[in-house]
Amino acid sequence: MTEKTSEIVVLENLKVIRDRVAAAAEKSGRSAEDVRIMAVTKTVAPELVNVAINNGISLLGENRVQEYLDKRDSYVQGTETHFIGHLQTNKVKYIIDKVSMIQSVDSVKLAKEISKNAVKNNLTMDVLVEINIGDEDSKSGIEADVTEDLIREIAELEAIRVKGIMSIPPICEKKEQSLNYFSRLRQIFVDISAKNIDNVYMEYLSMGMSQDFEAAIEMGANIVRIGSALFGQRQYN
Ligand SMILES: *Cc1c(COP(=O)(O)O)cnc(C)c1O
Repeated sequence: MTEKTSEIVVLENLKVIRDRVAAAAEKSGRSAEDVRIMAVTKTVAPELVNVAINNGISLLGENRVQEYLDKRDSYVQGTETHFIGHLQTNKVKYIIDKVSMIQSVDSVKLAKEISKNAVKNNLTMDVLVEINIGDEDSKSGIEADVTEDLIREIAELEAIRVKGIMSIPPICEKKEQSLNYFSRLRQIFVDISAKNIDNVYMEYLSMGMSQDFEAAIEMGANIVRIGSALFGQRQYN
């Protein structure tokens, strides 16, 4: 594809995604504005990411520290960026002042490192706790059962604010199966909100990707993370 055609494709994709998000939001009694569309940029050229930004995408999701550091100066400025990939503790220092949220917190050890670096940088970092709802070996995230305990422990740390949960459920053939995972996640979200834990603000339920974002929205997602449906199929992950 030439550069021009890829740009047109991204614009068309974005329009379709927006329509689908709006329809799914309506189905759950909400409006399109209640659901933030995150553009997931892994492997995507900055020029194409900028097409999305120039057409109203204000939230980017980054998976890899080095890739983000390489690309960030080429992005149109002014967007918000969340880190969503597996994060090694020794790399926290490179992104601590370059993202506004880390969605992939899956251990106290990582949370402590984030807290330490946040203090050093004189900022407070918003985080989501990542849940491995399908108990898949291939995926990061904590077991659903320990979510509340982990959140309580993280909430005690300095310079960190728990803002909700994130998950990547298994890809399911049937929508009902996806709905089932998303419904369990929503239940965890609602249960923890109801506990009113100090320093925990359950604002974000980040779930739903290209294959399943409508089901996620129907179950209450308010951030959906979209890569391939927006930018096209990736060569690798
Ligand atoms: C890659 C990725 C996405 C987007 O995946 P698509 O299926 O391409 O939409 C969303 N969330 C995370 C954490 C990812 O790594």
